[in-house]
Amino acid sequence: MTSPPIDLRSDTVTRPTPAMRAAIAEAPVGDDQFGEDPTVNELQARVATLLGKESALWMPSGTMANQVALRILTRSGDDVIVSRESHMVWAEAGAGAVNSGVQFTEIGSKGTFTAKDFLAARKPQGHPLTPPTTVVAIENTHNRSGGIVFPSDEVVRISAAARESGIATYLDGARLWNAAAASGHSLGELAAPFDVVSVALSKGLGAPGGSLLSGTREMMVRAVRVRRMFGGAMRQAGILAAGGLFALTHHLTRLTDDHANARRLATRLAASPHIVLDLSTVQTNIIMLRIAKGAANAAAIVERARQHGVLVLAFGERTIRAVTHLDVTPEQCDRAAEVLVAAVEETSVAQTEER
Ligand SMILES: *Cc1c(COP(=O)(O)O)cnc(C)c1O
Repeated sequence: MTSPPIDLRSDTVTRPTPAMRAAIAEAPVGDDQFGEDPTVNELQARVATLLGKESALWMPSGTMANQVALRILTRSGDDVIVSRESHMVWAEAGAGAVNSGVQFTEIGSKGTFTAKDFLAARKPQGHPLTPPTTVVAIENTHNRSGGIVFPSDEVVRISAAARESGIATYLDGARLWNAAAASGHSLGELAAPFDVVSVALSKGLGAPGGSLLSGTREMMVRAVRVRRMFGGAMRQAGILAAGGLFALTHHLTRLTDDHANARRLATRLAASPHIVLDLSTVQTNIIMLRIAKGAANAAAIVERARQHGVLVLAFGERTIRAVTHLDVTPEQCDRAAEVLVAAVEETSVAQTEER
């Protein structure tokens, strides 16, 4: 009998627990296009309150939340300033260019940037040559930089500078829950500097799907139309929203377990001389590790780990991502560390012998 693989590819692989499925089965639903799904309405109200915003709107995915935000905050030809390797640039199939006709300027390093970086990259509005910068977006936590938390004091400086220049502020907070758990700041505090904020239910919270976009009532009225335009208007979406409500009640406070598991796994990985891993970047539930020269490349290590029952993702030629979530235990993280270290060290030995 073989046990199921330890799946660290993403925190999106979580499946609804029996208790969540029961909540989903019992949820009252209605046609959300008539505003009549009580479960969607309850989730929207709850998330708006958590984020300290006037209004929140159900979205089928985080990508759509980002795309609707871009569309309501920009005009075609505008410039959007983002952190380097942001989700909107790397993981949305070029949607910003297609749906809103915007260009992105990536700034900073390791997922963050400063107000100074922002001001240097900002292009004036009303100039005949420049594409006007109309949005600055922050990703918190930052996925491709290993789940790092964007420093709060810098967020405040950036948003103040943006407001002075008439530039809108957007928070891609797919994992804002993790940022709150790691930093000790409330969700409201983290969302306050931004005009528009998105959060995802399908990552660490463990719900089967859904995101919410949040901001002023007036902005969300515009977002309703764009959501319809993009094909994201749903009917009895309460079936999914119920999973989100359940997750907010039962899975929010346990995110610190995922963070402890990530640290446990990362500490063991970093002890290998063939793995380069800066433990200061392991702030939440994502681990980005680099395989030192001399060992096999990421794709080969991923395949070797898979054969031993551990699933991780190759994020570059020598970069691997591992993500902890509610379906992995501390013991499974220990086992994963063993398998990954062995995979890297065995291929290093093999290469040494070939020389
Ligand atoms: C996962 C993610 C999203 C949205 O992803 P979907 O798969 O479309 O729900 C957006 N931003 C960040 C930073 C993410 O990690």
